[in-house]
Formats: sequence, structure tokens, C-alpha cells
Amino acid sequence: MTKDKRAGWRPSPDIRRDPTQSKWIEEETIPLLKKAWGTYRKKVLALIIKEGERTNIIGSTPGISLPEIMRNLPMLGDSFLEDGTEITGTMIEQAVNQGNAYATEQLIRVEYLPEAASGSLFTIGPPTQALIDTLTAMDLSSLQGITDATSNHIVQAITTGMQEGKGTYEIADAVDAILNDGWNRAETIVRTEVMTAITESTRQRFDEQRVQLCELITSQDDRVCDDCEPLYGEITEVDGPGFGDMGWPPFHPNCRCAIAPVIPGLYDGPHKEDVEHWFD
Ligand SMILES: [Zn+2]
Repeated sequence: MTKDKRAGWRPSPDIRRDPTQSKWIEEETIPLLKKAWGTYRKKVLALIIKEGERTNIIGSTPGISLPEIMRNLPMLGDSFLEDGTEITGTMIEQAVNQGNAYATEQLIRVEYLPEAASGSLFTIGPPTQALIDTLTAMDLSSLQGITDATSNHIVQAITTGMQEGKGTYEIADAVDAILNDGWNRAETIVRTEVMTAITESTRQRFDEQRVQLCELITSQDDRVCDDCEPLYGEITEVDGPGFGDMGWPPFHPNCRCAIAPVIPGLYDGPHKEDVEHWFD
């Protein structure tokens, strides 16, 4: 059952000024994922500094060895992935549904679909399981890329630290910095994946409704970046490769760009002439 997370929000009359309203999805996901990463971090650090120990990692410390750490790291990575994909799986489902609802609202506002199409405003749309599955698989592989890289960097840091004669706590600090870096990458990727899911789901909805053209809308505030700003209002084909070399939004981490439907005869934006002649 999808809850109405956007209660109180009403679409603005101008589809080119309306953001995707997806922030709540990130706000719900990131703290859960951060907690799972925190558990992973603690378990990794516990491999290096056993509770109460203040001895050096090199040689004599009983119970601490590089082979043991190398054996355990992938298992800890996998257990994070298990939690992580469950959390982000929910997120992707929410984002796909949101993209679907967003696309439908836009089509109603340009009067391409009747109001009745909305059903309950935020819970409409046909099954999108195939899209959810594809995006979830992509998500798993990007999270796995991060845990794999984190494991490799940790082994390197420990090896180098031992060779340089560093103490346990110094090595643990280096490992912690690597884990911190891994979390920052995971967070950025997950935020970006929300926007990818929204664009892909919006595109699928347009395509199902035989909408052939769409335009790019930026957030139009002072945080829009220099790369995205000039693309505002650009038009492209819904089932094509996207906007020039940039492809489909998000164009970069934390990009908030979205797409809006362009219907010949109903479109009143700056590229009116191009749109009317698009299919000549
Ligand atoms: Zn952007």
C-alpha cells in the first residue's frame, strides 16, 4: 500500500516549473542505509582492533592477521549488500511509482489525459515491475562495486601500514577513512539512482501514452549548475538517446533535472515552431 507522502502538495499549473517532489524518498532511504553502513564499518574495524586490545597489529597480536581480515572482508561486504539492497529496493519501487504518478499528473495538466486518469493522485499507473527489476539489479551492482573497492583499499592500507611499521590504531584510522569515503560514494550513487528511476519511469509512462516528445526542465533556482541551466526547454524524443551528449537526467550526481511532455498542438513553450514541424 503506497502512502501519500506528498500530502498537502498540489501540482502547479505550469508543468515546466514543477519539481519531481522526490526528496522524501531520499530522506526516507539515506538514514536507513547509513545505519546499515555503520554496522558494516563497526564490524570491519573490529577485525583490526579487538575489544580491549592495545597491542600492535604486526606479528605477535593473537587473533589478528591479514589472512583472517581478507577472509572476513567479503563476508561483511555481502552482509551490508543484503541489507542495502533491501533498503534501496524499496527506494527504487517508490521512485518508479513516483515517476509514474508525476508523468500522469503532467499529462493531465497539459490536458492530454483526462482528470479521471489520476485515480488516486499518487497511486496510479500500470505495473512497472520490469523497470523496477532492471533498476534494482543496476543498484546492486553499483553498491557491490563500492564494497569491492572498499575491501581492496582496506587490504592495501593494512599491507602498506604493516610494511611501514605503523601501529594498530594508525592503521585502523586509515581503514576508517576508507570506509568513510565508501559511504560518501554510496550516498551519492543512491541519491542519483532515485533521479534515474524517476526519469526512466516518467519516460516509460509517456511512451505508453504515445507521447513522442519531451522537454528538459531544470529546477530553476540558484542551485542549478552551469551544465544543466542552458538545457532548459530542450526538446528530444521520448524513446531516443536523450539530450545530445548528455543523455537522460540525472546528468551528474545530485542533478535535479526532470522531463515534461511535449504534445504538438498543446505545447506552448519557446520551441513551438520546431515542435509543429518535428514530424514533417
Ligand atoms: Zn541537472
